Amino acid sequence: MTGNSRAIGSGKITIIQGDITRLHADIIVNAANSSLMGGGGVDGAIHRAGGPAILEECRTIVRRQGGCQTGEAVITTAGQLAARFVIHTVGPVWQGGHREEARLLRCCYENSLKLAEAHEAASIAFPNISTGVYGYPKQEAASIAWQSAVDDLLRGSEKGPKEIIFVCFDRDNADIYEKLMSEQLPS
Ligand code: ADP
Repeated sequence: MTGNSRAIGSGKITIIQGDITRLHADIIVNAANSSLMGGGGVDGAIHRAGGPAILEECRTIVRRQGGCQTGEAVITTAGQLAARFVIHTVGPVWQGGHREEARLLRCCYENSLKLAEAHEAASIAFPNISTGVYGYPKQEAASIAWQSAVDDLLRGSEKGPKEIIFVCFDRDNADIYEKLMSEQLPS
């Protein structure tokens, strides 16, 4: 899969259209649900491709802390995937925009980036969290994802990821992210 990259701050942002389970990055992020027990969409795809080791570690986390709240993130092995780790984060369900959805979605990106930094990951790949079954409007969700990445790379922490990849599965999201990139970071 080839992507479109732009340098910013201490690193770069890349946009790729395709299947996140096939990506070679240190970390891939899963749009999980709070049970951490797998589900449909990207969550199902990651567990199918990664094998049972991921679910096994999710079970251990559930025993320890009872799942994962909206906006929070946890990290596990990546099983058979080409990544080193999977970060599972729980996006907000869209309920019209007045239930702190924007703040919670931003938390998903920020908490995932913090975990990536703690694990000294050079690259991290995000799906378009909450924009599937959870119904978050794609344009608004993309603006939050984009700004979180820009802020992180401009902060330029020494151990933080140098490449933030947005993996867009559907054509709508790919178009939205391509437009954001050409407007915000013209080549
Ligand atoms: P949520 O419940 O957070 O909305 P979904 O999995 O339903 O999670 O959708 C989140 C995003 O993941 C959607 O934009 C969907 O198109 C995308 N998606 C689904 N399968 C994959 C995949 N294999 N790789 C990358 N993105 C995917």
